[in-house]
Amino acid sequence: MTTVVISGANGRMGREVIRAISKESDIQLVGAVDLGEVGQDAGVLAGIGATGVILSNDLASVLEEVKPQVMVDFTTPAVVADNVRLALDHGVRPVVGTTGMSQEDLADIRERCRKKGLGGVVAPNFAIGAVLMMAFAETAAKYFPAAEIIEMHHDQKLDAPSGTAIKTAENIARVRHDHRQNENTEVTKIDGVRGGAFNGGIRLHSVRLPGLVAHQEVIFGGQGQTLTIRHDSISRESFMPGVILAIRKVTELHELVYGLENLIFE
Ligand code: NAP
Repeated sequence: MTTVVISGANGRMGREVIRAISKESDIQLVGAVDLGEVGQDAGVLAGIGATGVILSNDLASVLEEVKPQVMVDFTTPAVVADNVRLALDHGVRPVVGTTGMSQEDLADIRERCRKKGLGGVVAPNFAIGAVLMMAFAETAAKYFPAAEIIEMHHDQKLDAPSGTAIKTAENIARVRHDHRQNENTEVTKIDGVRGGAFNGGIRLHSVRLPGLVAHQEVIFGGQGQTLTIRHDSISRESFMPGVILAIRKVTELHELVYGLENLIFE
């Protein structure tokens, strides 16, 4: 039995994870942390009925009290890194879906995992389709000289560009041989525009609209042709098989793994 505390348990993703865990016989929810609805039953908030796990707003006390094997974090970019450091200090393995963590924090967490010999998973996208979209984009990048990424999310998302878009751009930049950026377009910088050039000149564009969940198009341009690779998460359930897989696998790891592909394409 793998025991889990969820940080951000009353958020959209946190509640989805509670529902997903309740269907697994080998994973047990033992603690739930969020800022709102403190004192309420986490299962009731997630719509599955009472679980006996009461929402707390004090992660350190919960980790000390219930001593879980794993902490799943779906909170906000501002608090995720400190939550992960706290978990590692308590010998708890982090499974992180929260996006927007800085490269410095990621490097620090990687080092802390290494020093403690503790496993951890940070995945900008837990949907298998998104992982495949990134893998297909990496393949296409070897054959097309130019690419731009359009990511589209619901209007409550706090960070832009998305972690998935950044990771896709990193992958494309790593494998491409001959990149030709469009240097002819005159770029006017306007405050509030969501978009910009990433490493290697790959442009990222962020759309935020009600009605969307999580979507991304990677558009490649070449001689007389374009190739578009697109993934749509039409419900948050799309992320759950990946989260469950990470909870199971993280207990066997002894270092930080960044990206679900490293658990799927072994
Ligand atoms: P959300 O609905 O806003 O949920 C975040 C929750 O965290 C809120 O309930 C918030 O409480 C709570 N929170 C804030 N600070 C906290 C703290 N210090 N300790 C504990 N809880 C805290 O957001 P969401 O849509 O679930 O998304 C959460 C994160 O997951 C985002 O970064 C999003 O980009 C990411 N995400 C990742 C994937 C993936 O596959 N990796 C998929 C979807 C989303 P308050 O509302 O009271 O502040």
